[in-house]
Amino acid sequence: NPSQNKNTMTEIIVQKFGGTSVGAVERIDAVAEIIKDSSKSNNIVVVVSAMEGETNKLVGLANHFSQSPDKREFDALVSTGETVSSALLAIALNAKGINAKSYSASQISMKTTDSYSKAKILDIDANKILEVVGQNTIPIITGFQGITETGDITTLGRGGSDTTAVAIAAQIGAKRCDIYTDVDGVFTTDPKVVPNAKKLDSITMEEMLELAGQGAKVMQTRAVEFANKYKVPVRVLSSFNEGDGTLISLKDDGMENALISGIAFQKDQVKFTLHGVGDIPGTAFKILGPISEKDIEVDVIVQNVSVDGKTDFTFTVSKDDESDVKDIIEEIKKEVEFKDLMINSDIAKVSLVGVGMRTHAGIASKAFKALSENGVNIQIISTSEIKITMVIDKNLVEKAVQVLHEEFELDK
Ligand code: ADP
Ligand code: ASP
Ligand code: MG
Repeated sequence: NPSQNKNTMTEIIVQKFGGTSVGAVERIDAVAEIIKDSSKSNNIVVVVSAMEGETNKLVGLANHFSQSPDKREFDALVSTGETVSSALLAIALNAKGINAKSYSASQISMKTTDSYSKAKILDIDANKILEVVGQNTIPIITGFQGITETGDITTLGRGGSDTTAVAIAAQIGAKRCDIYTDVDGVFTTDPKVVPNAKKLDSITMEEMLELAGQGAKVMQTRAVEFANKYKVPVRVLSSFNEGDGTLISLKDDGMENALISGIAFQKDQVKFTLHGVGDIPGTAFKILGPISEKDIEVDVIVQNVSVDGKTDFTFTVSKDDESDVKDIIEEIKKEVEFKDLMINSDIAKVSLVGVGMRTHAGIASKAFKALSENGVNIQIISTSEIKITMVIDKNLVEKAVQVLHEEFELDK
């Protein structure tokens, strides 16, 4: 009996299927076939997203009544898309004669912080999952969902099913986590914006971290962080087409490092500028401290050289956090003196990422030249060892990505 032999093998692969992969009954059927096939040679644990469009629909329902609904109720609502898809996929597998059972976050004790809509995973009941696997049954676990210590439902942020999958893979010691999506792997940039973007056979964890962090939504950033921290090999591949996808490699052998591996961009950004802030110790902390306390991620941070003891302090956050940040700044007005506050949401970030930047000079100036020749004004520049981020006008972002992709010959 082959399935009994399988059980004696300890190796498990976690397979995550995104929204488009389970967007219709036909797609769920195709996914069930992929799972059925892989379960012949490996123990499989599945993590599933809501059917395509469902989460947005739920967000829309909440927004019908309020633009800032109660955070607890909001998460209770938007987490339900995954409840549907996990049970439906289990039903589809059962119909094919495969043992499968759906599990919600609460059923596998997926404990998180109580930061609603951006909850962080604290603990998972690995034994529960392994017990199901041991019973020759494929667990179909809801992505995106979590529960607080007191049992309230949380969610992990948009795109959070990736993180569920990698965290589970880490916790149960899976040999790999396969992220199935609607494109063939990780590309040099979003293939929907640059049609001749090239699929990468592999990419380093470090580069994937930067690409995800700068907006390449093919994987949620936190998922890559988990993979890096717990050394989980991850593969990104298509549930539509056959192929090996992209391996996110834990090793960086430095042999064939591309100068630039990819270009990421992010549109839903807001730029906050505090004009005329006192150039005194502690100011940056007084501004950013209360923001980070609320688990709001701040990205590009710039403080200018001061004139007459006053300076400008600029930073960007995600559009979703705009109103929270506004409230916080209103609050810190008592402690931090500044002349006025400017908020600009007509911005976007474009980032070049590549480990080859470490050893090659002149990349930044090449990028600036290409953008200027194409009429793209750069508002802010921020760099790290393997990344250059430029803040530009939101309406020019597609053009900027295309120009840079061409300039660095990423299609070659
Ligand atoms: P899923 O529903 O499977 O989670 P997502 O929509 O979250 O899928 O992520 C896949 C999408 O990410 C692709 O369809 C593509 O448009 C986008 N994307 C952005 N940057 C990249 C990139 N560098 N490589 C591949 N896909 C990318
Ligand atoms: N369904 C959630 C979302 O749309 C989580 C996910 O798809 O990863 O963001
Ligand atoms: Mg996703």
